[in-house]
Amino acid sequence: MMRAKEPIALTIAGFDPSGGAGIIADVTTFVHFGVRPTAAITSLTFQNFEGVFGAIHETADSLRAQILPVIEEGGIAAVKIGMLPTADLVAGVARLLAETDLPAPVIDPVLQSSSGYELMEKEAVEALVTELMPLARLLTPNIPEAETLTGLRINGDAELREAASMIRAMGAQAVLVKGGHLAREPGEEPRYAVDIFDAEGDVTVLSGEWIDSPPVRGTGCMLSAAIAACLARGMNLKESVRAGKEFVSETIRHAATLTPTHIET
Ligand code: PLP
Repeated sequence: MMRAKEPIALTIAGFDPSGGAGIIADVTTFVHFGVRPTAAITSLTFQNFEGVFGAIHETADSLRAQILPVIEEGGIAAVKIGMLPTADLVAGVARLLAETDLPAPVIDPVLQSSSGYELMEKEAVEALVTELMPLARLLTPNIPEAETLTGLRINGDAELREAASMIRAMGAQAVLVKGGHLAREPGEEPRYAVDIFDAEGDVTVLSGEWIDSPPVRGTGCMLSAAIAACLARGMNLKESVRAGKEFVSETIRHAATLTPTHIET
């Protein structure tokens, strides 16, 4: 019996040699969901669990040269976009999406590392809003990212919804604003984490239990990659978002069972 071909997903993202975030996290996630990974590097970063120490960025031309031969082989069923550090790279990706038959991407707007290192230049953020957001199938900002993109200060569920609706008005077909950072306000006892999923105005509140664990890196990368993998497998967007969230929750739950030496050095 002939076996059906595995669906293929493409990640366009930064390379984190320590494997906590970026392409290694994306590829691992694709494989978990039974999707064949392909990957193009936007930036070679230098980092470990303590922080980011620098990066050498690709150019729009070198990114294009990585991606075109992969597109030529055909079969890319979903695209995930992560770290895009320069306006040149943002414009290059927008051009690729306009000129080829790549599917509309899941975009994780990676602005900063958890340790505070800027992973995206200011002009690149502006280009993301004007050139790339209108091409997105889904944008997956966390609260600090949603605040930068909208100029809002997000303190509660109402502002999460407002941010989601503003980001859609900026052109994204759908947005998942991740509320995890909200529950981590100083002095507050988090009990649950709320995400707002707004798909063309159809708003779903996705609340999950708060899992107490040591910090897990790359959860944003994993979530957007998991959603892209599920889309590649033919699930609809809402099912993909739910499955992606469940996968990340499982990963955090698993981290909570490990001794700290497995997580941090
Ligand atoms: N490095 C790369 C290449 C990333 O894509 C990201 C996040 O998406 C990070 C670092 C930041 O990861 P963390 O928030 O775990 O520091």
